[in-house]
Amino acid sequence: MDLSYSPQEQAFQAEVRQFLADELPDDIAARVKAGGEVSKEDTERWHAILQSRGWLGQTWPEEHGGPGWGPVERHIFDEEAARAYAPRILPFGLQMLGPVLIKFGSDEQKAHYLPRILDGTDWWCQGYSEPGAGSDLASLKTKAVREGDEYVVNGQKTWTTLGQHADWIFCLVRTDGSGKPQEGISFLLIDMKTPGIEVRPIRLIEGGHEVNEVFFTDVRVPAENLVWKENDGWTVAKYLLTHERTGIAGVGFSIAAFERVKALAARTMRGGKRLIDDPLFAARLAEVEMDLEAMKIFNLRMLAEAQRVGHPGVETSMLKIRGTEVRQALNDLYRRALGPAAAVMPGEAPGGNAAVLAPEDEGAAASYFNNRKISIFGGSNEIQKNILTKAMLEL
Ligand SMILES: Cc1cc2nc3c(=O)[nH]c(=O)nc-3n(C[C@H](O)[C@H](O)[C@H](O)COP(=O)(O)OP(=O)(O)OC[C@H]3O[C@@H](n4cnc5c(N)ncnc54)[C@H](O)[C@@H]3O)c2cc1C
Repeated sequence: MDLSYSPQEQAFQAEVRQFLADELPDDIAARVKAGGEVSKEDTERWHAILQSRGWLGQTWPEEHGGPGWGPVERHIFDEEAARAYAPRILPFGLQMLGPVLIKFGSDEQKAHYLPRILDGTDWWCQGYSEPGAGSDLASLKTKAVREGDEYVVNGQKTWTTLGQHADWIFCLVRTDGSGKPQEGISFLLIDMKTPGIEVRPIRLIEGGHEVNEVFFTDVRVPAENLVWKENDGWTVAKYLLTHERTGIAGVGFSIAAFERVKALAARTMRGGKRLIDDPLFAARLAEVEMDLEAMKIFNLRMLAEAQRVGHPGVETSMLKIRGTEVRQALNDLYRRALGPAAAVMPGEAPGGNAAVLAPEDEGAAASYFNNRKISIFGGSNEIQKNILTKAMLEL
């Protein structure tokens, strides 16, 4: 197996690197580097820059406005973007709903919604989880009752990421409660401006407002907003989740994070010697590096397979588990390398931790705490292990 890039791939890598050097705004990169929250405006600006080059809908076929990239191009872009401190591409419209509509949407739905995702008209959020339905998603209770040409929706979603900014939400709703839980679910597109929708913030451990609760009271949704068939939304939901899991692994972020930790350990002196020469720290770093190398290869293999069969498979669960473990291990090493000052949030230390940390390191604690989420969302890592066991043991 030849793991080096071909001359064409190397040329593409140079093109991406140049594009990032020319087009990624310095102020946005500085905010990403400092580990702070990236605003809605930053995300929209970055999306527009990518779209002007035709590089936004990276997983979409060319006929729908995608760049026609294969898995290696996507991997190269992720790696270079993370290295340059580009913000992440927001996944809800581009990496979740887009592929779903392309596979399951009607011609009208594709023609209407896909261009609006690419040009930034619609900001989407994901309405899957409910207070009593997270890991056991099929037990969801938000109800949609058909009345003429409309569904009337009542219930509650939770953990809705960036729902405070969203124009639309794609929701799993219960349209039938009589059979198996999976059988009575439908996939509905809901305009967030519809009367009866209320969004309330949830504060995360590091203080950020990233997630919300969304309440639905007699919300009337046109029946044409149903994607695929009534009561067969579970098929759509599962397809979407495999796309979500690939993104969460964040291989590009880990590669960039690893390089950052290594450089930091090489210039940090502890007890009269460089931290990178400390046997315990070096051993831990080497362990993470080996995991990361293995993951890079696995990621490429999985992307190639997804390209071959047309969609990601059950292996995304494996990638999600390892990917998030490696990202969290790197967050931990980064904080250890920075020392006690990295234990506090920006602004918590007397005079702020800027007094002792470089601006790009100030967000270390916030990133560490914020990234506790990655082993939970998109289906927790324990649930991914269940999925893999079932698939491998054919249970
Ligand atoms: C920051 C953040 C952002 C999120 N964004 C969104 C979003 O935008 N949209 C959305 O719909 N959802 C979102 N989620 C929700 C996320 O998908 C759920 O949190 C996740 O599926 C887990 O569900 P739960 O929180 O209800 O935990 P629970 O399902 O109650 O699980 C609690 C614990 O029990 C374990 N567990 C549960 N069942 C089993 C089992 N059968 N076997 C072994 N272990 C088990 C879990 O692994 C977990 O550790 C987000 C969550 C977070 C934290």
